[in-house]
Amino acid sequence: MDDAGFERRHIWHPYSAMDAPQPVHHVERAKGVWLHLADGSRMIDAMSSWWCAAYGHAPDALVQALKSQADLMPHVMFGGLTHAPAISLARKLVAVLPDGLDRVFYSDSGSVAVEVAVKMAVQAQIAAGHPARTALATVRGGYHGDTWKAMSLCDPDTGMHSHFGLAVSAQHFVARPPIAFDADWPEALAQNGLAEVEALFSRHGDRIAAFVIEPVVQGAGGMRFYHPAYLQGLRALCDHYGILLIFDEIATGFGRTGKAFAMDHAQIRPDILCLGKALTGGMMSFAATIATGNVAAMIGQGSPSALMHGPTFMANPLACAVAGAAVDLWQSRDWSADARRIGTQLRAELGPVAEHPDVSDLRVLGAIGVIEMRAPLPMAKVHAFCARQGVWLRPFGRLLYTMPPFVTAPEEISRITATMRAIARGL
Ligand SMILES: *Cc1c(COP(=O)(O)O)cnc(C)c1O
Repeated sequence: MDDAGFERRHIWHPYSAMDAPQPVHHVERAKGVWLHLADGSRMIDAMSSWWCAAYGHAPDALVQALKSQADLMPHVMFGGLTHAPAISLARKLVAVLPDGLDRVFYSDSGSVAVEVAVKMAVQAQIAAGHPARTALATVRGGYHGDTWKAMSLCDPDTGMHSHFGLAVSAQHFVARPPIAFDADWPEALAQNGLAEVEALFSRHGDRIAAFVIEPVVQGAGGMRFYHPAYLQGLRALCDHYGILLIFDEIATGFGRTGKAFAMDHAQIRPDILCLGKALTGGMMSFAATIATGNVAAMIGQGSPSALMHGPTFMANPLACAVAGAAVDLWQSRDWSADARRIGTQLRAELGPVAEHPDVSDLRVLGAIGVIEMRAPLPMAKVHAFCARQGVWLRPFGRLLYTMPPFVTAPEEISRITATMRAIARGL
């Protein structure tokens, strides 16, 4: 059996069926914005490989950091041991995050970072004398990962809930944040607050440990951008009802939305923050959950006073070293300016399709461009067309979107937007 045949028969891809494999491209090498395929062709990675490769693939500084660390110490357990890459990375994260977010927990992936955040919140509430506060609340339209608790916080309709029946924990959902990012935030809303959230908190607040939300950008749950004032209202309500606020910045962190972190649009701070994806510049799976001293102190009152989580590969030195180098790389230049430059170009070049009858919405924020169609896109056709154009896009449902690496040059952005316009107008 050749490789392609073996792969189709034996290897699962994300959200795929073994008996009906979707077409896949065989990538041999990735450097900068380019994916080099086995057939000799190449494609611009307009997805940053799902938000990860923010600085392009395999930046020299990150590859070097990985090699140096591999020579020294690829891994040691983190129970009872520590090492320079973990300490140095935590110092860097604490320095770039808003004041007060400074208690760092390392884990293996974004979903696990969300699990850890939720565990922190529930343990903190129980330890602080609120044993009934074990439920979670969130908005519809979110995406927080594929592990059980994280999945239970994803949109209940567009997420995966229906496939798992009663095995999915029931959480409290409120409507999506109602006002778009660049729309006016009506005075009425500002005054009367977030009525549905307030009603939920006043009825069930004493059983809710935390509210979990992606600040400003709802990613894989629908690629929507909402008004930062929502977060300010939410912060005030959480404070009033003693509910911890968890921000999932796994997709939005490190400049993607045009600010360093999406929470900077609202200038507020959560109690617990999740980072992942671009944390390692897309080099490897790794994540961090960062809490305030207050959350750590709440957990500390409990018995045991320990946070009960500890992955085998916690603080893996290779991942910490790469992430440390990635934070350095991020700080070496104003990448948010690149995000804004890319956003300006996306807005200008995608603009012409906004009026197309098959397009229901066009939106751009930072270096994220989204065309929402009225009907689902023909995936197989799009897959083949993108390969011919040399642009890697991976729409889902009615959403055709790009979040290219910050290093993508203007002529490469034009190639992405031309491909998107052609898809939106119908292949
Ligand atoms: C990707 C993502 C996750 C899950 O991260 P994994 O590394 O895939 O487990 C969680 N939250 C958000 C907002 C994400 O974009």
